[in-house]
Amino acid sequence: MCFFGVCDNRFSIYRLHADAPSCSISYFLQPAKFPQDVAKELAETAAKIASPGKGILAADESTGTIGKRFEKIGLENTEPNRAAYRELLFTTKGLGKFISGAILYEETLFQNAKNGTSMVELMKSESIIPGIKVDLGVVALPGTDDEKATQGLDKLADRCKKYYEAGARFAKWRAVLSIDPVKGKPSDLSIAETAHTLARYAAICQSCRLVPIVEPELLADGTHCIETCADATERTLAAVFKALNDHNILLEGCLLKPNMVTPGQSASKQSTPEEVAFYTIRTLRRTVPPALVGVNFLSGGQSEEDASLNLNAMNKVGPHPWSLSFSFGRALQASCLKAWGGKSENLVKGQEALLARAKANGESQLGKYEGGQGGKDSGASLFEKGYVY
Ligand code: 13P
Repeated sequence: MCFFGVCDNRFSIYRLHADAPSCSISYFLQPAKFPQDVAKELAETAAKIASPGKGILAADESTGTIGKRFEKIGLENTEPNRAAYRELLFTTKGLGKFISGAILYEETLFQNAKNGTSMVELMKSESIIPGIKVDLGVVALPGTDDEKATQGLDKLADRCKKYYEAGARFAKWRAVLSIDPVKGKPSDLSIAETAHTLARYAAICQSCRLVPIVEPELLADGTHCIETCADATERTLAAVFKALNDHNILLEGCLLKPNMVTPGQSASKQSTPEEVAFYTIRTLRRTVPPALVGVNFLSGGQSEEDASLNLNAMNKVGPHPWSLSFSFGRALQASCLKAWGGKSENLVKGQEALLARAKANGESQLGKYEGGQGGKDSGASLFEKGYVY
């Protein structure tokens, strides 16, 4: 019998453990000594998010970041406009067919649509699990050449309890690292800080019944080749998973949100989807234990179409021990924002664009995307220098 009802082949290793009666009890109690119900809830939430053909909509842009998006469409960054946009996202009929979870900024978790229905209720009516961004942004990491540290651990448990009560079931924390081989980036200190802080955050979230999405993002800024990105990503992920183990994280109730392995944005040679798939999968195989249920990539400034094609190429060469899916921000919303343009008469056009992109990515999760969704516009780069979220 499959313990969690997740019975397709990609979860065979997972099922092996859950099926064995003698180890299913110790499986939950080790290593974190969680109460059994907490471990079960975390594992069930993570498995639901990692459902085949589905991924995450990262709609957790901070007030500053959504302001930059609105500026492009000539829309003022006010609370009613932010609510109208998020209402557009979560009233898209059929979105739940391709989107299993959505990450919200704190404001949205407590916000209502125009008719008084909460955003959380709107999401639930599409069976989309609400998630919450819990980090408080980045600051310079002293002792480095402007590498970054992420803030937000103080009183995080108090905030997590409040978020859980409001309906959130998973949480995101983004760490940011740079690649510059000449300057020795990412430095050992940047990697150590990233690993420790992500593990502390993950442990706090799990103690509050929130599935952590662990996000160590190596930025795409630079002229480096794909091998350099692979090396930096491998060093980072190896350190992150060592720290998660040191902090007794239940990997079955945790998700990873990494960058895909790509050349730098300004590299002279860009890579094919097959090359991106090869280096990304090689890096994950070397560093990510099969106990982790799902890997949900960020898009990192790739165009909508490139992000879909790269994910598709990875899933075409499966099966993999983990689900490989998406947690895209820009690569799910760019066409939608453009089609909407901040005008209520374009609401349906915006929703159609969102649904089309979500469908393309849902197909990419299954390795069945044939390309071409969204035409020329979907090939436009979404890169922003030194990206903050
Ligand atoms: P992008 O997909 O736009 O990189 O954003 C994803 C995200 O959530 C960054 O934290």
